[in-house]
Amino acid sequence: MNRQQEFVLRTIEERDVRFVRLWFTDVVGSLKSVALAPAEVEGAFDEGLGFDGSSIEGLARVSESDMLLQPDPSTFQILPWRGETEPTSRMFCDILTPDGEPSPADPRNVLKRTLAKAAEMGFTCYTHPEIEFYLLESDRLGPDGAPVPIDQGGYFDHVPGGVAQDFRRTVVNMLESVGISVEFSHHEGGPGQNEIDLRYADALQTADNIMTFRTVVKEVAIQQGAYATFMPKPFTAYPGSGMHTHFSLFEGDSNAFHEPGAEFQLSKTARHFIAGLLRHANEFTAVTNQFVNSYKRLWGGGEAPSYLSWGHNNRSALVRVPLYKPGKGQSARVEYRGIDSATNPYLSYAVLLGAGLKGIEEEYELPAVAEDDISSLTSAERRVLGHSPLPASLYDAIGSMEDSDLMAEILGEQVFEYFLRNKRQEWSEYRLEVTPYELHRNLGIL
Ligand code: GLU
Ligand code: MG
Ligand code: MG
Repeated sequence: MNRQQEFVLRTIEERDVRFVRLWFTDVVGSLKSVALAPAEVEGAFDEGLGFDGSSIEGLARVSESDMLLQPDPSTFQILPWRGETEPTSRMFCDILTPDGEPSPADPRNVLKRTLAKAAEMGFTCYTHPEIEFYLLESDRLGPDGAPVPIDQGGYFDHVPGGVAQDFRRTVVNMLESVGISVEFSHHEGGPGQNEIDLRYADALQTADNIMTFRTVVKEVAIQQGAYATFMPKPFTAYPGSGMHTHFSLFEGDSNAFHEPGAEFQLSKTARHFIAGLLRHANEFTAVTNQFVNSYKRLWGGGEAPSYLSWGHNNRSALVRVPLYKPGKGQSARVEYRGIDSATNPYLSYAVLLGAGLKGIEEEYELPAVAEDDISSLTSAERRVLGHSPLPASLYDAIGSMEDSDLMAEILGEQVFEYFLRNKRQEWSEYRLEVTPYELHRNLGIL
């Protein structure tokens, strides 16, 4: 029993915790939870908790279905939305094979492997996500077949008496009470759309934080009689929900992306990192944008990126280098704007970081910076400037991923194969659907 484990056991006793939830994430990014009686926790630390992995998306083939959950004591928190009486707590878990090895199919382990590779190269990776989502009246569609947003606010709007402000305040307080710092929160561009930005943390902790964040947002919405969705593009006419993520690499105490005096104060490491993101973007987009619906966001305007490009102050760029003041070199970072709010954060951060590290390893050359709004250029101009498109659909994204040795290496064969199988299935279901668009177009009766 180590000190962190002892601390958890002591806290359970002192706070009279009734349930300890063990959390983990399946390959498509759904949170899974099993509640443990307090008396069982010590055993779970020692030996892991057995469960049937074959019933969880992507985890194990049926022939090797016994898996173990190993709680990570550093993630222990009391869950504030369960109330004061009979406190409930949670820990994130690593998934182990029956012989105690980290499971290659555990998304948390996929990210840990990529972080270990970064560490071998001398880097610690920090991330800071801007998470967008919609608040809806309920989980039902309105009479016109579209979801019903909770308000009619827009970007940075202060909506008097609106649900959104109260909602954001409650969410921020709850997040802070489980140790997740919030930097920024505001109404976003669409009606009912909100954004909450988490303070930077190391990439594994950020991914855990995003899973907690989604749960908190959904719980608070329910408490307030609303419904929260991280769906990438719930409305044709309004912007989608992105999860822009800022990345920085540190070497010891210093930011490896910062170089005073260089163009945009960007070090060679940062330039290679961006080049890696751009070169491999098409291969990893099926992961960062994993649903049929994700491509409605990427191609639906609303400041979502559609072409490979990087820029400084250019909101149409896929990769943006935010400005920072001279002397603030520690905040040098690179923002990837393609990723959406419905992604599996462990797998996405693994492929994004892995692509950036590949760029550093192979010293990829960075293409020219994009000065213009890329979506307003003609396709010939874009071609000349080298701004090729992101995948147009989940089908295209699957095609690019299938041929990628780098994605197979980062994800490991098992996750790579399972993920592709799952996404091919989604695409083949979707292509059979007759949509309202087609009925309208062909029958004109809607
Ligand atoms: N909602 C936009 C997107 O889908 C982003 C808007 C913004 O720049 O924050 O990526
Ligand atoms: Mg935003
Ligand atoms: Mg942004």
